[in-house]
Amino acid sequence: MKTDVQIAQEAKMLPIKDIAKDLGISEDEIINYGKYKAKISLDVYKRLKDKKDGKLVLVTAINPTPAGEGKTTTNIGLSMALNKIGKTSISTLREPSLGPSFGVKGGAAGGGYSQVVPMEDINLHFTGDFHAITSAHNLISALLDNHIQQGNELGIDPRRIVWKRVMDMNDRALRHIVIGLGGKPNGMPREDGFDITVASEIMAIFCLSESLEDLKERVANIIVAYKFDGSPVFVKDLKAQGAVALLMKDAVAPNLVQTLENTPAIIHGGPFANIAHGSNSILATKLALKLCDYTVTEAGFGADLGAEKFFDITSRFGGFNPDAAVVVATVRALKHHGGAKKDEYGVENFDYLSKGFENLEKHIENLKKFGVPAIVAINQFPTDTKAELDFVINRCNELGAEAVLSEVWAKGGEGGIELAKKVVEVVEKNEADFRFLYDINETIKEKIEKIAVEVYGADGVEFTSQAMKQIKDIEKLGLDKMPICMAKTQYSLSDDPTLLGRPKNFKITVKEVKISNGAKFLVALTGDIMTMPGLPKVPAANSIDILENGEIVGLF
Ligand code: ADP
Ligand code: MG
Repeated sequence: MKTDVQIAQEAKMLPIKDIAKDLGISEDEIINYGKYKAKISLDVYKRLKDKKDGKLVLVTAINPTPAGEGKTTTNIGLSMALNKIGKTSISTLREPSLGPSFGVKGGAAGGGYSQVVPMEDINLHFTGDFHAITSAHNLISALLDNHIQQGNELGIDPRRIVWKRVMDMNDRALRHIVIGLGGKPNGMPREDGFDITVASEIMAIFCLSESLEDLKERVANIIVAYKFDGSPVFVKDLKAQGAVALLMKDAVAPNLVQTLENTPAIIHGGPFANIAHGSNSILATKLALKLCDYTVTEAGFGADLGAEKFFDITSRFGGFNPDAAVVVATVRALKHHGGAKKDEYGVENFDYLSKGFENLEKHIENLKKFGVPAIVAINQFPTDTKAELDFVINRCNELGAEAVLSEVWAKGGEGGIELAKKVVEVVEKNEADFRFLYDINETIKEKIEKIAVEVYGADGVEFTSQAMKQIKDIEKLGLDKMPICMAKTQYSLSDDPTLLGRPKNFKITVKEVKISNGAKFLVALTGDIMTMPGLPKVPAANSIDILENGEIVGLF
């Protein structure tokens, strides 16, 4: 069997200007990054802004195993298949982060015969967006520490700085550091730390902004610290927003690449799916909606986090009306939810499968609450038996849910034709009646409780005394009328990663509520959320190499 990178390197790519041309984008409207990557000028959106939007399909999933269940692979395969059946379709995706690429999860450019290319570029430096975001973020850090060094006119309390530094790498040694050592000329000593770039609020803002001006305004409103008197310090107090916006001037333009079958893909932005909302930039999705019949997008983690936030945060800010959601399920993850151990995933077992099906059932129910029709895509793995696949499809049909086998990993677009036809059939019925789960004017506690009870199936929410105090402070600042960004484990519907399937009789504990004032959401943290991951004992980096003839190995 060929590896992902072997398949990707054999791809016959078309010059990116040809892909653009097919979308009605002229050579003057793209900025080439080599032959196979380009940024699409924001003028294209301005030119098309009165055109009717195409359909929007969200790819989401059940609660995954740590390996991921194939959302990106399904997204790309579905988009290729839609193109095969005569619909124009663009796959819109998040940009991969270097941390997971060199760590355990691997790249994020799809897999098998459903990939976006050039995958090695997409998985590595791509068009430099993450560099721009990292620099923009760290410029604010540098200005902040310099402000303190130069006399601290604002009265910033060095113990209450909430703006860490960022870097796009899994590097646990940087989680807690002390900076400013070395005496007076070298800054004011204080505790600091690094987050991974995808956890930066600049990343979230980048993905939620509608223009460079909107980005600048959001950046200006980021809270970076608190003063000795307890009042917040904003980026605008440091006069940093202009320089930050300048650093992002090229990055804000969405990136155009192609799939293995030369269909278009727009890959732009990549926020975390826990402390941020986990979907590609609004600019990319808005542009794709103008350019094709079917925009296929993706949201990180399972539907309890990804889809909920895509609906309640991304779609609220982007003004999106999702037409359908594809829920990716795998036999191995369903068995996992039914109690199977890792070495049992590949062994036929209907008890595990039947028990674990509850997890999928809950996600299907949840999508109904948002008024978005769901189609289950069973992402077929080489070890699945026909009887197991039929079992899952039958169970879905018994529930009245649409379910289709997807073989896009093994067969590319050809393996997704049935799925594509089903998506078109469902979308053309026009039954979507999209609605948010909560009104932003509800109280913080009401909003969080609604998500926990309705989406996770919890009995209620416990707030720690710290969280209660933070909620009061946020209300006092008048910043409570914002959507909630839940930070929770992706492995369970609950906040306990070991509770698999469809947990019952549990409560969610909210430990902290943080303000992302630039992104314009409030982050509710349950459990311990890692904003700077570490590397595993045997990192993927150890088997990644480039050979003398230019061949790349080990990049999945
Ligand atoms: P997600 O986006 O949900 O995290 P990905 O699409 O990135 O998942 O897939 C995770 C990993 O699983 C990738 O390495 C991909 O190649 C692999 N994969 C996905 N679908 C299949 C499949 N049907 N058979 C085998 N491997 C698959
Ligand atoms: Mg993915």
